[in-house]
Amino acid sequence: MPCEQTIHGKIIYGPEAEVIEGYIVIEDGIIKEVHEKKNDSGIIIAPCFVNAHTHIGDSVCKDPVLGNVHGHFVQRDLSQLVQPPHGLKHRILNMTPHRKMVEAMEKSLQDMNNTGTYAFADFREGSTKGIVALKEALESSDLDARIFGRPANDTGKKGISEELETLLNYADGLGMSGANDMDMEILENARQHSLKAGKPFAIHAGEHSRSDIEKALSLDPDILIHMTQATQQDLKEVADMGIPIVVCPRSNFITGVGMAPIVDMLDQEIKVAVGTDNVMLNSVNMFSEMELLSKIFGIEDRQVFMMCTLMGATILGLDAPGYILEGNIAKIMIINGNSNNLTGIRDPISGIVRRGRPDDILSVMI
Ligand SMILES: [Zn+2]
Repeated sequence: MPCEQTIHGKIIYGPEAEVIEGYIVIEDGIIKEVHEKKNDSGIIIAPCFVNAHTHIGDSVCKDPVLGNVHGHFVQRDLSQLVQPPHGLKHRILNMTPHRKMVEAMEKSLQDMNNTGTYAFADFREGSTKGIVALKEALESSDLDARIFGRPANDTGKKGISEELETLLNYADGLGMSGANDMDMEILENARQHSLKAGKPFAIHAGEHSRSDIEKALSLDPDILIHMTQATQQDLKEVADMGIPIVVCPRSNFITGVGMAPIVDMLDQEIKVAVGTDNVMLNSVNMFSEMELLSKIFGIEDRQVFMMCTLMGATILGLDAPGYILEGNIAKIMIINGNSNNLTGIRDPISGIVRRGRPDDILSVMI
């Protein structure tokens, strides 16, 4: 017996995120039909989010000391917090027993699900072992994960090629820390291995300085993360090379590296998706990123919504393309437009982007 479900409401429809009133018919997890019909129920049917950059391994440490404490500057510097191999995060990851780490990641996966995310891309530390741990956590989840692994051998010692090969058998791609954190020879080797395996190569670049941008671009990466310090010229080059960027606005604020030139990226027609970055620094809640992008960066609401949904799906090449259309896999959330928070909104997209919260969600189908 096929499983069929019909949902009525205001539908955020198609790749242009157009709002229509009507109903959708879902059969066996596929959007079979979408029909227009007057509807004033207040129900909003929206595509779920894609969180395009996370490090969920550090779910074991969520409240590092930040900023000014009793007049002393404590941890806020990026290198002290998250940079390998000696940043706080890496010391904690090395100390955490396997089971505890898997359990912490399971909670973050559940949280992503509850807050309307259907897919995410994780930069997983700890080489193959780290990937196996995330896969173990994913056994209890329906989320679509893209796992970008990295080698533990950052010295280029004997065995690095074997390690990269094994890693790429387990991972969906490589996710490197940054071109200043590793010898270029190793990065070039890693790039070659990813090409051979036919899997994407992603790298952080220009997060706290632009000194690693040229080196990163010389590797012709498939995805760049951050580019906070990129100049117009850098972005022109990125646009010419057709490389998408994943930005992490909340992460950039908490690490004190500033505002990424996201408007310029969009003006240059670069594909831009959004990630919540380290769970150590931010919750996995994509509503928070949307509010920031709308109110601090001044990006148009519809564009923000698309960056947090279909743009991530496009960049990651997901099976479910991140928008509601006949024939697509149904990854949708039902939002209560009559909640105390949302009641009275006129445009569902502006309402969700500027003030939507996880507690406005009635149900998530992923
Ligand atoms: Zn990152």
